[in-house]
Amino acid sequence: MIELVGFDGDDTLWHNETIFSMTQERFEALLQEHAPGDVVHARTLDTERANLDLYGYGIKSFTLSMIETAIEVTDGAVTVDDIKTLLDLGKAMLSHPTDLLDGARDAIVRASQRAQVVLITKGDLFDQESKLARSGLAELFDAIEIVSEKDERTYRRLLAELGVPPERFVMVGNSMKSDIVPVVAIGGRAVHVPYHVTWALEEAEEPTSGWQRIAHLDELPSVLSSWGG
Ligand SMILES: [Mg+2]
Repeated sequence: MIELVGFDGDDTLWHNETIFSMTQERFEALLQEHAPGDVVHARTLDTERANLDLYGYGIKSFTLSMIETAIEVTDGAVTVDDIKTLLDLGKAMLSHPTDLLDGARDAIVRASQRAQVVLITKGDLFDQESKLARSGLAELFDAIEIVSEKDERTYRRLLAELGVPPERFVMVGNSMKSDIVPVVAIGGRAVHVPYHVTWALEEAEEPTSGWQRIAHLDELPSVLSSWGG
């Protein structure tokens, strides 16, 4: 029996990575006189990876990493105007409308007819709260959890707080690393709904069992039924 269904937010319920990709392309165009796009892309990822422990996830962290990458790639020659452009790109991302994925609302409503539903999203608290408010989905959830990292320890803590044993928990999300691997590892089950773009830092090796992949959120109810939800 399933007591609790967790939903990821970014790229599961609303578009996110497409906004990052679009900004990344504009960033690469801005630095094209200094380095080819693929080099800037790889250097940005290196900077983000190195900054993760200090900045965590989210748009503000990405903006700072773009500025740092620009300074490095241009050997300090990046102009104040270019840095202003990067800050503006970050601000545009922060105020971008929350575009829901097809079937997002319906998937939450149908899951809530079988179990408690909780949003489990990671990143910058202020940005995630603001996105959630703009999504119009907040009132559908029994609980909202905005966390800095989605690992085994986080899921164990959340489930203990909510009083749900892992075997009665199902997580739904687009990230193998954040939504599937740690949940399966603690004895829960997971549904992978891939998004058409995946951030390189969210990739991970697939577990052998305990999860299922669906192409669209409208397949979720039948998976939950097959698992006794
Ligand atoms: Mg996600």
